[in-house]
Amino acid sequence: MNINIDEGSGTSVVSKITEVFSKIEEKDSSINSFISLHKEDALASAAESDKRFKSQEDVRPLEGVSFSIKDMFCVKGHKTTAGSKMLKDFVPPYDATVIKRLKDAGAIILGKANQDEFAMGSTNEMSYFGACKNPWNLKHVAGGSSGGSAASVAARFAKISLGTDTGGSVRQPAHFCGTVGFKPTYGRVSRYGVVSFASSLDQTGFFSLKVEDAFKVAQVVSGKDTFDQTTSSSEKVIYDSNSVDTAQDLKGFKVGLVKEFMDADVDSDVAKAMELSKNALKARGAEIVEVELPLVEHGVPAYYLIATSEAASNLSRYDGVRYGHRADVNTDMSLEEFYTLNRSEGFGPEVKRRILLGNFSLSSGYIEAFYRKACQLRRLMREDYFKAFAKVDAILAPVASTAAFKLNAFEGDPLKKFLNDYFTVTVNLSGLPGLTVPVQKNESGLPVGVQLIANQFEEAKLLKAGLSLEDEFKFYEEAPDV
Ligand code: GLN
Repeated sequence: MNINIDEGSGTSVVSKITEVFSKIEEKDSSINSFISLHKEDALASAAESDKRFKSQEDVRPLEGVSFSIKDMFCVKGHKTTAGSKMLKDFVPPYDATVIKRLKDAGAIILGKANQDEFAMGSTNEMSYFGACKNPWNLKHVAGGSSGGSAASVAARFAKISLGTDTGGSVRQPAHFCGTVGFKPTYGRVSRYGVVSFASSLDQTGFFSLKVEDAFKVAQVVSGKDTFDQTTSSSEKVIYDSNSVDTAQDLKGFKVGLVKEFMDADVDSDVAKAMELSKNALKARGAEIVEVELPLVEHGVPAYYLIATSEAASNLSRYDGVRYGHRADVNTDMSLEEFYTLNRSEGFGPEVKRRILLGNFSLSSGYIEAFYRKACQLRRLMREDYFKAFAKVDAILAPVASTAAFKLNAFEGDPLKKFLNDYFTVTVNLSGLPGLTVPVQKNESGLPVGVQLIANQFEEAKLLKAGLSLEDEFKFYEEAPDV
């Protein structure tokens, strides 16, 4: 199940990784996809991989494969900032479970990828460390919140990247940067050691150029973890070789088009990518079926109530006393004033907005009307998806209504930005797996992708349909000029 390591021209893993670091050092200052680099550790891991390749003994499943890691994942001994001033000097004393599994499998961690602060955003402009630009056009955003992950794969710095997807943060930046973006079913991958945003929605996701690679890595790091009680012990595989063997024959495979998504306003390049994808699936024998999800119009409000409520609660741990940003004060103040000062200085504007919204929707007198209503809606929406999946194997949908936004497109209008999450958030609210496959570039040279959605634990179906689309469009052959 190994992944082909093809970065650089060098023959040893050490020479390939050395080359990758020179490329990053030369090119990433304009893109800003990395917050920190782990050169010394990466070269030591590369030397270990070379040893194993040479002796052909104990070659591990991800031997020598290079990774960038969204700065939400704890990597022992290296700063884990979550893109925030609050955690800018936080060095975790342990590895997240996924990081441990990656290391045990022979992966090479290049460094930590840029992101919106605490994964709240869709543009990466909310990072304390500056926006990550789109490698296809530096005047556009890479997307978010896992923008650095997507950009570092698109720019051919890292072979694979780990991101998190709470409401679309893997699938949307993948669409913006022309990479594959895969979010498995909720509960597939442990979140132990991953900075929390909204715990009932957060899931680890994977970026790659080739569909198969994302699924292979997910297979390696997924599964039960006693440190995360929400992990599932499902026996169903994520990387299913049968899907790979049969991807060109979709006879008997039903693909749903959601009426409400098809009626939504999208740019012509997104509509075209949808049309091309539908035809490609049909040409391989798939049957196209219309399905309805009558409640999806409430997806964005339900998501922003639930996500902000959980965030307000999760982020209450940052008081600047035990860890996190601590204000430099020598005047007398109460403990409460001290907490307030630490939090006011440590959090950026988007995080503050979410904490305010979340605490409001949880406050007595409002909780029934807002948070509880959103939870009820979520349950009903999920049942609609289950009804749809009784009729179809996978759903084909847009990822977003446009290609990558220009930098600063939403200044002063956060609501407009929130509304852009229409096609992705209901997938998280329902705990389903989703996949972005890049289709083609639009007239301005920006990538456009489509999304595939499947029922819980049916990742193998996403793999099959995703490979068919990849075979048709072969977007991995295109690289931005960085
Ligand atoms: N854009 C969404 C938000 O800002 C999704 C974020 C995410 O998936 N982490 O909440």
